[in-house]
Amino acid sequence: MISLHGVSKTVPSGGRPLTILQPTDLAVASGQSVAIVGPSGSGKSTLLGLMAGLDAPSTGRIVIDDVDITTLAEDDLARLRGLKIGFVFQFFHLIGSLTALENVLVPMELAGRRDADARARALLAEVGLSDRGHHYPSQLSGGEQQRVAIARALANDPPLLLADEPTGNLDSANGGHVIDLLFDVNRARGTTLVLVTHDRDLAERADVTILLRDGRIVDHGAGGAGAPTRLAPPRDAAAESAARPGSTTTDAATDDTPGVVAPVS
Ligand code: ADP
Ligand code: MG
Repeated sequence: MISLHGVSKTVPSGGRPLTILQPTDLAVASGQSVAIVGPSGSGKSTLLGLMAGLDAPSTGRIVIDDVDITTLAEDDLARLRGLKIGFVFQFFHLIGSLTALENVLVPMELAGRRDADARARALLAEVGLSDRGHHYPSQLSGGEQQRVAIARALANDPPLLLADEPTGNLDSANGGHVIDLLFDVNRARGTTLVLVTHDRDLAERADVTILLRDGRIVDHGAGGAGAPTRLAPPRDAAAESAARPGSTTTDAATDDTPGVVAPVS
């Protein structure tokens, strides 16, 4: 579904270049669910924003459904994003002057869909908000706003759904609804799901967990406790250990880095 080849990000910082994502290779298969975990500042949002085409990499290629998005002109990238990618933000990012229904309509109107209105109503029903279409974001709870944002992300039935700490601003009950919804979508629609999370329960439900530290993938393994098989060798694990005496991937078991299968082979 999506693959990254030597993708890195370097930004200017105090007059000097700072590499916030080291060259990264990663492949996510169609229909997979992937949780990206790691300490604050480790590059999770940077990685997700690059996968979404919201940000351009400094090096490397990002391929979505056989299209190298790093070579696309801005218009073509925007069109591809509109059709292939749904993005859910921690702080919802709904348009405050539009109702819930109108927020869900926006991406479909941009794509010129004729069935937009009926589809927006169906999507709101799917996220359990059929009676809230006429409410403005300020009239909705955080959990309801995030469900509207998920309906909006699904508007054009994208094969790829990306979510950056989607439960980070919700209490546990509302967070639980949002988690269920994201994994229901992954299962029922076959939507590939990549989410950044600090939430242990959320990470453990994913097929694959990726642990980032200092802009580098330091572990890449199966997710939930029922799936102990490592799917890929740890990237640069030896170099990581050598560079940080006393640091091994087993320190993954902290609050920041939940659900990672950490045995070093
Ligand atoms: P995370 O989502 O894991 O908390 P981010 O991807 O947001 O981490 O950021 C990784 C690091 O890069 C942080 O130290 C952050 O301050 C820095 N960073 C992110 N974007 C920029 C930028 N545009 N300019 C300078 N530094 C940035
Ligand atoms: Mg972040």
